[in-house]
Order: sequence, then structure tokens, then C-alpha cells
Amino acid sequence: METLEFQAEARQLLQLMVHSIYSNKDIFLRELISNASDALDKLRLATLQDGLEADATDLHIELEADAEARTLTVRDNGIGMTREEVVELIGTIAKSGTAELLTKLKEAKESPELIGQFGVGFYSTFMVADKVELVTRKAGTEGHGTRWESTGEGTFTIDDAPDAPIGTTVTVHLRPKDEEDALYDYTDSPKIREIVKKYSDFISFPIRMGDDTLNSMKALWARPRSEVSDEEYHEFYRHISHDWSEPLEIINMRAEGTFEYEALLFLPSRAPHDLFQRDARRGLQLYVKRVFIMDDSRELIPDYLRFVKGVVDAADLSLNISREILQQDRHIQMIRRRLVKKVLSTIKDLLNNNPEKYATFWREFGRAVKEGLLNDSDNQKAILDVATFASTAGSEPTTLTAYLERMKEGQDEIYYLTGDSRSQVENSPHMEAFQAQGYEVLILTDPVDEIWVEAVPDYDGKKFQSIARGSVDLPKDKEEPAPEGDFAPLLTYLKEQLTEQVKDVRLSHRLTTSAACLVSDTDDITPALEKMYRAMGQEGPRVKRILELNPNHPLVGGLRSAHEQRADDAALPETAELLYGTALLAEGGDLEDPARFAKLLADRLARTV
Ligand code: ADP
Repeated sequence: METLEFQAEARQLLQLMVHSIYSNKDIFLRELISNASDALDKLRLATLQDGLEADATDLHIELEADAEARTLTVRDNGIGMTREEVVELIGTIAKSGTAELLTKLKEAKESPELIGQFGVGFYSTFMVADKVELVTRKAGTEGHGTRWESTGEGTFTIDDAPDAPIGTTVTVHLRPKDEEDALYDYTDSPKIREIVKKYSDFISFPIRMGDDTLNSMKALWARPRSEVSDEEYHEFYRHISHDWSEPLEIINMRAEGTFEYEALLFLPSRAPHDLFQRDARRGLQLYVKRVFIMDDSRELIPDYLRFVKGVVDAADLSLNISREILQQDRHIQMIRRRLVKKVLSTIKDLLNNNPEKYATFWREFGRAVKEGLLNDSDNQKAILDVATFASTAGSEPTTLTAYLERMKEGQDEIYYLTGDSRSQVENSPHMEAFQAQGYEVLILTDPVDEIWVEAVPDYDGKKFQSIARGSVDLPKDKEEPAPEGDFAPLLTYLKEQLTEQVKDVRLSHRLTTSAACLVSDTDDITPALEKMYRAMGQEGPRVKRILELNPNHPLVGGLRSAHEQRADDAALPETAELLYGTALLAEGGDLEDPARFAKLLADRLARTV
């Protein structure tokens, strides 16, 4: 016999379990049954796909309660584990994000969602047990099995188990019942039945106790919606998603005819912590005629809808289909296209009929959905139809359709400005003329916005136009009187002075109160995009922008006179630099040499106080 230590993180998590942070302790049984069900799926799959020689004729889960010994046993005849697997899978927590989970759990004492979100699984037994034994033998291996035992403190023991049958048996040595602490008598048959019915009814293998089978085993996706309670859907959602919160929306699909499939999809109500991590689990579960084939099937749903959870059960696929074949399978591609359409139309329904749910959905997942504007050109229009954006027209986000309806006489483009935050965008000098003349501007603050606006040509024939790019020609400008005096010499002078910083200097139509602003040339990439490319490690040439001046601003007027009268004044180049720096700061940009700018400014101020 060998005594080993739990990995540090596992130990911490166990401590949290022993001290029972969650009041619903019943769920330990659900977790054990869920693991057993996975193990049965794996064994069946291995016989189908890898030619494993094992008995898969009576796959089942068995519960055995012993009131006197105060034990509850969960036994499966599934795939089992080797000794190494036991040490690795049960002794450590391999999942990413565990450290994060632990900090969060410590902060929030009563946080069921968190446990669910990370699926602590097997360890939850220590909420009700003072000792847990696990005996297992891996299918398809020679020799003996393995016995694992722990009291949930720092260590566990591991030993040979000569007579272990194939599969896994977990024996939970129950702590004394303490109903005040919601620790019930888990040897009590009605209690066990209640838990199984509530959490595990849909498990597709029989869960037996004595001669009884406790679950209906009905695949939820095969049952008509009217016959399934919300509670049942929610439990199933938890089983497949490891997310404790209730789903926002349930989607049933069924196709008959030449290619049959059924699907049950869920839109979660909350984004997982790893929504934007590359290595996160994503994809749907694939079944073939009720037989589980694979988890996390990315072939079934595009990346931008990666938050969708659920099951697809296809009737006409081969049971031993591989991921490689799946990628090319025509039917799978067809299913995928239909799922996308259905998800998008469901979002549209929410938008039209349930604004509150829609708002939750878009807040949590809008950023991901917008990635589809880049990757799924077939559905670009459909995605834009369900998207909403912050706008200068009010505090509520707007659809593009509503924006188009509000467009002013003579306006034929959709104006937008990107930036880091709403307030930065709203206060940007580029906004001035648009605000003053009552033109609505979309406020785009998600990183992905920078990219899709470049890629999507238009919506309903109206181009997307950045108000920080190119020259603007607001209809009203045409009536404005030309500024007094000749600015040409000043513009030429400034262009020479600032040749390192900008590619041109010109008069502006977009400013009312600020003296100057920077704009990008029509075909150049924006500074934000440039920054993103650099962050991704792509070095490109720095793109110079255009400095625009407000001819009606006293500073600009004064500068013109100063230049006319004393073109060789040593203060002029400094003023040029200050003007450029202020324009950069106003849009939230980064000065190249902030210390120098501060010094120039301080010197200048010192002369005026
Ligand atoms: P999770 O189920 O969320 O992965 P657990 O802590 O419950 O986390 O289980 C860890 C791993 O141990 C499982 O992923 C599985 O590989 C293995 N395991 C647990 N229970 C069983 C079982 N009854 N049969 C075979 N393997 C199991």
C-alpha cells in the first residue's frame, strides 16, 4: 500500500468540500452518477470504435445503501481506470482555471454557481463523507484492479485490488446525518429515489437499486417539449454544461426525411469565464441513434457560437465516425448550417419578443457573436439583424434597423466611432460636429468592433463610416461660410513641422469646440487596429494620420496670425507640438514622449501665469 499526497490545489478544494461550502449536499450523488454514466459511454464507444473486447451488453449503474454500516455505494461496469489514471485523475485537478475558482470560492462562501461552473465532481462526495473508497479496474487490461481511499485530508492511499471487476465502485462512508446542516440520510431509499429522479432521470443507462430501475432513461431531446418540465431541461443542461445557472433559452429541433436528426440546444444565461480563451472546451455532444459518440464536437457549431450547449442526435451516421471524417461529412455540414440559422432566429425572437432576455444574452455573448461577422459571411446580414450597439441617441443600445429609421435627411452612411469606453468615445473631438448637428453615431467599444467594421461593407445598402476617418461632408457644412483669412501658409508650415507625426494638416469640418483632432486617411488602418496587430506580434509600419484644425478656434486663429507676423518665432514649433499632443490626448491616444509634452506645457503655462 502506498500513501500519496494530494496536489496542493486539490487539497484546498477538498478542504472547501469538507467544510461544505454549499448547502445542497444532495448533488454528490448526481456527480457520482454522472461520472459513472460517462464511464459507461466510454466503454461502449471503445467497443464500437477501437475494437475493445469487453462486455457491453448490460451497461448499468447500481446503487447500494447500507443503513447499518452507513455507506452508499455507486457501482458501474464502465471503462474503469488504471492505477496511474486513479492517481492522476483523482489526486490532482488538471482543469485550467482552478486557481481562479479557489480564490472566488474563498471570497464568496455561498456560491453554488461556482461549483457548478467548474464541476468539482468526485470531490463533492466529501461534503457528506468522512471516508471514500474507490475500487476500479480498467476494461481491456490484464491483471488486478486498484483501490483508492481517502478521508479528504491531505493524503490518500492506493493499493492493489486483486478481485475487482471491470468498472468502478465508489463507496461513500457517510457522516452522521444532520438535517440542520442539510446533510440527510443518504441510505434512506426514498431520499435516494428522489435525488435520482430529480437530477439523473435522463441518464441513458439504467440506474438500479435492488430490482428497481430508478430512472426513465428517456433521451430528453426525443421527447416532445410539452412533456418535459423546465426542471428536467435544467438538470440536463447542468449535466452537459457543468453550469449551475439556469439556461436562458431552450431550443428543440427535429428534421425528418432523407437525413434525420434531433437537437436540443441551450443558450446559457451567463458567459463562462473562459469564453475568450483558446483552449476552452466548446462544441456540442454528438449522439448517433441515442448512443453517445463524442463530447465537444466543434464540427457541429461554428466558433462564434461556441457558448451554445447541447446535443445533436443524428440517425444516419456510422457509430464509429471519427473527428476527421466528421469535418468533411456533408450531413454534418448541413446540420451545422441549420443549427446556426436556428440559433440566430432564436436570438431574433428574443430581440423582438423578450427584450430583457435579449439584453442579458447580448451583454454576455454579443462580443462572441460579432466574431461571426468576420468568419461567417453567409450569415453576416442575419448577425447584423440581431446585433445591438451603443449609440449617441440614448443610453439603450440600438439595432441597425432602428438606426436607419432615425437617419437624417441627406445622410446616407451609418456613422460610428470606436474606442475603449463609452465616455472616451462620446467626448472625442471627432464627435463635435455630429453632436452639434444632431447626427447619431454608433459607439463601438468591443475589440472585435475594430475589425468587423473594416470587413463588413454595409447594412441595407448603407455603408459603415468611421467619423475619425476620411473627410466628412455633413450636409449642413456646405452652407457654412468659408473661414476668414488664408490658412494655407499655416497649414504648409505645420505640415513641415510635424512631418514625423502626421501625413497632412488640413482644416476641419468636424470640430466645433476643440482646436484640433487627428483622423485616419480613408484607406489607412486605425491606430487601435495597429495596436492590435502589434499585440498579436505583427510588426507593421507606423501609419501616419491627418491633423485637422478648427479654423474658428481662437488658438488656431491666433496661430495663423503669429505665423503671418513672425514666422521664425522659436515658440511656434513648440506650439505645433502642443497642438498635436493635445489632439492625441483628446481621443485617448498615447503620447510618444509624455515627459517632453508635460515639460513643454509647463513652460508655456509658466509664461502665462
Ligand atoms: P469531472 O467528472 O468533472 O471530469 P471528477 O473529479 O468527477 O471530474 O472526475 C475526474 C476524472 O476521474 C473523470 O474525468 C474521469 O476520467 C475519472 N473518473 C471519475 N469517476 C469515474 C468512474 N466512475 N469511472 C471511470 N473514470 C472515472
